[in-house]
Amino acid sequence: MSLKVQMVFGTRPEAIKMAPLARVLKHWPGGELFVCSTGQHREMLRLDASYARVQPDIVLVHGDTTTSFVAALAAFHRQIAIGHVEAGLRTGNLRAPWPEEANRTLTGVLADLHFAPTDKARDNLLREGRAPADIEVTGNTVIDALLWMRDHLRSSGWQPAADSPLAALAAEQRLVLITGHRRENFGQGFEQICQALAELAGRYPEVQFVYPVHLNPQVQGPVRGLLGGLANVHLVAPQDYPHFVWLMDRAYLILTDSGGVQEEAPALGKPLLVLREVTERPSVLEGGTVRLVGTDPARIVAQTARLLDDAEAYRAMNRVFSPYGDGHASEKIAQRLLRWAATAKTE
Ligand code: UDP
Repeated sequence: MSLKVQMVFGTRPEAIKMAPLARVLKHWPGGELFVCSTGQHREMLRLDASYARVQPDIVLVHGDTTTSFVAALAAFHRQIAIGHVEAGLRTGNLRAPWPEEANRTLTGVLADLHFAPTDKARDNLLREGRAPADIEVTGNTVIDALLWMRDHLRSSGWQPAADSPLAALAAEQRLVLITGHRRENFGQGFEQICQALAELAGRYPEVQFVYPVHLNPQVQGPVRGLLGGLANVHLVAPQDYPHFVWLMDRAYLILTDSGGVQEEAPALGKPLLVLREVTERPSVLEGGTVRLVGTDPARIVAQTARLLDDAEAYRAMNRVFSPYGDGHASEKIAQRLLRWAATAKTE
């Protein structure tokens, strides 16, 4: 059976994480691939028309966005099968991360096939009553994207564009990379993160702090207000994936509240401090290279200072640990889709 697969996504992380799978399915003997980008949420209203036109056998959605949940729901209404990539991650708290925990859980309720990054994610799905046969542990496609890009950058001797602010960074100075944009940190959380960064920047004038600032005004406000004008804090625009992977690879350590970066940083061997109280990716904590520090300024300063001052503490966290995949998740998903198609044919 030649399978018609339609991928739907709407945000930057989904596009990054679905790209390696699209690369595999594009030249796939198993069938045809259609890609639908909703540009969260501009195209959302036309989603149903897109399904009507393509008539896919299966719709693939990713992770925890509102696009994914709505795309799954629209497919469900048309009785189209649904495959959920990056399925089964849970904090167990529907309000953190908000609204992503609910989006991912609800998508899981509707999905026919669950591509779980880890055994823990599979166990979460089993606990919620999903059938073992419908779950495939594949690793996460974000690691496929990351390792492909990192190797490509390294082997081609890639450097930031000459007009990029990253081209002006000093090669010999240590670099701390920061990302932060979670909704549950809006308001006080962000102010605290920025206070901590301002203090660190003052205490370590020889360290470069690089922060690609999300375009959301709730992020731009406190970040520009509290960190703008500090000589060693580089507030730059959100970076495209090559520039961002280059930054992660170049970083001494990383501070983030992002979901994807929690998987990417340890896979690159970079010590990571997570600016959240809880994580839906507990497996990353097991290697000892990632710490949950939350948004308390004193704690952020103390943990960052420890890594900047104490070479032994740094070395202990400076190693590769990648529980979320080996870079081959996309191939495993494609193989599982082929098996699913064979079963669907005989039913
Ligand atoms: N990312 C990027 N440019 C940036 C910041 C992040 O390409 O300026 C990438 C990052 O490597 C990861 C993904 O975007 O693959 C994470 O997205 P984000 O932090 O926006 O969302 P989350 O993972 O929290 O859903």
